Amino acid sequence: MVQEDLFKKIIAHSKEYGFIFPSSEIYDGLSAVYDYGQNGVELKNNIRRYWWESMVKLNENIVGIDAAIFMHPRTWEASGHVSAFNDPLIDNKDSKKRYRADQLIEDHLQKIDDKIQKEVDKAVQKFGASFDETKFRTTNPRVIENRQKYNEVHTRYISALENDDLKELYQIILDTEIVCPVSGTRNWTEVRKFNLMFSTQLGSVSEEANTIYLRPETAQGIFVNFLNVQKTGRMKIPFGIAQTGKAFRNEIVARQFILRMREFEQMEMQFFIKPGTEMEWYEYWKEKRMKWHKALGLGDNKYRFHDHEKLAHYANAACDIEFEYPIGFKEVEGIHSRTNFDLGNHEKFSGKKIQYFDTEANEGFTPYVIETSIGLDRMFFTVLSNAYVEEKVEWEGSAKEERVVLKLPPELAPVQLAILPLTKKDSLPEKAREILDRMKFDFNCQYEEKDSIGKRYRRQDAIGTPFCITVDHDTLQDNTVTIRYRDTLRQERVTIDRLPEIMGDKVSMKGLLKKL
Ligand code: ATP
Repeated sequence: MVQEDLFKKIIAHSKEYGFIFPSSEIYDGLSAVYDYGQNGVELKNNIRRYWWESMVKLNENIVGIDAAIFMHPRTWEASGHVSAFNDPLIDNKDSKKRYRADQLIEDHLQKIDDKIQKEVDKAVQKFGASFDETKFRTTNPRVIENRQKYNEVHTRYISALENDDLKELYQIILDTEIVCPVSGTRNWTEVRKFNLMFSTQLGSVSEEANTIYLRPETAQGIFVNFLNVQKTGRMKIPFGIAQTGKAFRNEIVARQFILRMREFEQMEMQFFIKPGTEMEWYEYWKEKRMKWHKALGLGDNKYRFHDHEKLAHYANAACDIEFEYPIGFKEVEGIHSRTNFDLGNHEKFSGKKIQYFDTEANEGFTPYVIETSIGLDRMFFTVLSNAYVEEKVEWEGSAKEERVVLKLPPELAPVQLAILPLTKKDSLPEKAREILDRMKFDFNCQYEEKDSIGKRYRRQDAIGTPFCITVDHDTLQDNTVTIRYRDTLRQERVTIDRLPEIMGDKVSMKGLLKKL
């Protein structure tokens, strides 16, 4: 299947089965804003819990907070967001479409890279085992020519970013003859800066009102509370503060479903350390976070690190963890060494001393920070897109049929257990409800009696329920039920008393956390 088609199918599926709806859909939606439905909210909560428990429960030196979305406006001057939280934007005059200039150039570079890779792939096929890739890359004229083109543009691009040179970004777009994907023309406006923060007014009387911002990242709520938490929790460095919550960015281009939204959720942890130890902790958290991702079993080869070309104004090292979505590798999480930029600036702007006193060394200092920052919605899409499978299966002796199944990690599935009486009569519903009443305290259960058992199985497959429990006439005699396994379609007959033990092992968050 073409990957773009797969992307569209997953979006359609997530709406049809109550995972994600466009916001205010009856008014034709609001661009890049989405609502989570009845199954989506469960999956999202489970991902959040997996992250929260891995941070706060498993690390005795990490505690959580929940700061407000609104913050004093000076916060955003201190953090650099008022002056530096900008994207370079460019408009095409024919299509009236707006783009990020940096992304247009990066897409162009990617295309050159793809051309080189194509040449290499062709040669591999042609020469087989005897192929010497390094030699080919350094001698093939077409590869050399494209590599030179790439390097030229790349060097100019990086230097333009570093110098914040908007004219040069514009010139690169002209020189490389980048066209608008919609109109196909090169009729561009100049490149301008665009601040991504949403503003609003505080107070009910507009004349007296102050402009405040919707937070563009959750991190600042942690920095301004550094002293509160450190003192009241008697925290000793190194220690971390974790938080999950909404963030808002007026993204210029927001066409990638929940990968780029204007209102989204972040899960961030700021880890406070001694200056000079940041590279050690940076490596530590890179490894820890990758392990967290891989423990979900989505496929180790689907992840890669990507070092930042241009460091943000606050960072001295930064990388992304990228995941391979149906539309290619994209960032899901960032790991940043933020130095003492934020705490230092809040000290300057607030006039309050923000220092940590090391009693052993008998000295005070402004801590350095390593941050891990993951988008909950991007993580949601990581799990969902990876789970979506269309396959042909054989239902109990019948001909092969196509099914759509979400092979979600059982620990994260919105419904863990579906309890299904074979028919609506002969006291089977009563027996099934008896089981439900026992299981619902420990598991997310769903009771369903409508339609044939086959149809109900398929509905459960489509929302990713790992186990269906079928109650039939034998159940009334011997207290046994059938467990039907989502991925293998295997059926197993077990006594009702054993259900908590069998299910518990497979769906508990504990199993997942123990892998970390
Ligand atoms: P990008 O380069 O994709 O714009 P970023 O580098 O600006 O992302 P960070 O500021 O590092 O992102 O934010 C941390 C995480 O928050 C990202 O890794 C991503 O998962 C998530 N995130 C950022 N912007 C959005 C958005 N507009 N919609 C959904 N998630 C987002």
